[in-house]
Amino acid sequence: MTKSDFHDRVSEALQDDFLRGAVKRATNRLRTGRVNQLKTLVDFQEWRERAQAIRSHTILHLDQYLETFTNKVEENGGNVHWALTAEEAVAHIHRICKDKSAKSVVKSKSMVSEELHLNHHLEKDDIEVVETDLGEYIIQLANQTPSHIIVPAIHHTRESVSDLFSEVAGERLPAETPALTAFARKVLRQKFLDAEVGITGCNFAIAETGSVVLFTNEGNGRMVNSLPDTQIVIMGMERILPSFIELDTMLNLLPRSATGQKITTYVSVLNGPRKQNEADGAKELHVVIVDNGRSRILGSKYQEVLNCIRCGSCLNVCPVYRQIGGHAYGWVYPGPIGAVITPLLDGLEKWGELPYASSLCAACWDACPVKIPLHEKLLELRKDKVKYSGNAAEKMAFGMYARAFSSQTQYALLKKVGRKAQIPWVRDGKIRGGLPAPISEWTKTRDFPALAKKSFHERWRELKRGDN
Ligand code: SF4
Repeated sequence: MTKSDFHDRVSEALQDDFLRGAVKRATNRLRTGRVNQLKTLVDFQEWRERAQAIRSHTILHLDQYLETFTNKVEENGGNVHWALTAEEAVAHIHRICKDKSAKSVVKSKSMVSEELHLNHHLEKDDIEVVETDLGEYIIQLANQTPSHIIVPAIHHTRESVSDLFSEVAGERLPAETPALTAFARKVLRQKFLDAEVGITGCNFAIAETGSVVLFTNEGNGRMVNSLPDTQIVIMGMERILPSFIELDTMLNLLPRSATGQKITTYVSVLNGPRKQNEADGAKELHVVIVDNGRSRILGSKYQEVLNCIRCGSCLNVCPVYRQIGGHAYGWVYPGPIGAVITPLLDGLEKWGELPYASSLCAACWDACPVKIPLHEKLLELRKDKVKYSGNAAEKMAFGMYARAFSSQTQYALLKKVGRKAQIPWVRDGKIRGGLPAPISEWTKTRDFPALAKKSFHERWRELKRGDN
């Protein structure tokens, strides 16, 4: 992503009043729900600390837990496939679909599958892929990507959904929620019955038992994993927990932080393919464990980022996300977690602008149920960007800035020069736009307070001398 791509997306989002209103309303609702639900936990900070300890321990011993999980899945009759890259993951899934001569696939929500551009790859080979989460179904019809981790169609209205659904229906549908959901239910039900393969994501994988745990609200996840004969689970390699004891903590924190619910409507635990005496479930189960850049983060100063449980809570409190929505971030994960994880997974050289999409207010850290200090990681990424970007002018400017601010004499000199240099741009005590490059960006979209005629220290000295 070039700088102008990012700036273009941000400007587009800032001019879209509907988008900003919709994002604000939805994030307000999610934030209020979260705050109300957290009151039901006796000591939320203790829960956070426990969750942080669980995730940090698990990621530290990830190799061990992944090995135990793999052995257990295989003992339970399932198959595990490792994918170092997105291409390898797609190849595994493609091969499984081909082996089953699948022509139709139903999918429930999976952010990792967005990383793989899975739908696009399967559709290229004439395999129909149908998203069955209502929000995902809407954005699939609109040919868009999710704009929120939890609420993918946050930017749509009833009217825009009615337009999309009417096209599929071949007749005008009213812009009313019951009519629209009834239509989606009718279409999707037949797709569930026709599909040869079901694909789900994975909220958590349990090492001790080889189980896959899914938190869903619409019931589509259960249809996806019980109706088609073959099921594929796509999991990011970090989505593991040692046992059900640790799941208990996550079960209390994830829905509360994500949607403000005590618990999601459905919590499904998959323990391998259908057994002989069982009435339903897939006959074949495949788990694709995706690395796609995660092992590069392991052991680095960014390791804590792998603790993320994808609750989306940091998005809802972020003053930047709340203004620009998700698409401006340009890749799969938006908001503060996206600004950190996108450059780590897909390259800082490509996504170097994202760590600057933050006010560093640390509201994300405060909201994070596993206490990831995202604001600190954003600063680290900014440092890395300057260090490795080879932008000599920027390095020189910040070098001078650092020197000036660490010496009292140089700081005083800089102030004197600055006061004179700013005169052509100052109006009513503010520097209002029009600064020359390379500092023009600073005042392009906001006013900058002009340097005061006298600094606090100068006034203080005068006061002490009794000059005023
Ligand atoms: S960083 Fe924290 S708040 Fe943000 S999605 Fe991940 S777990 Fe949730």
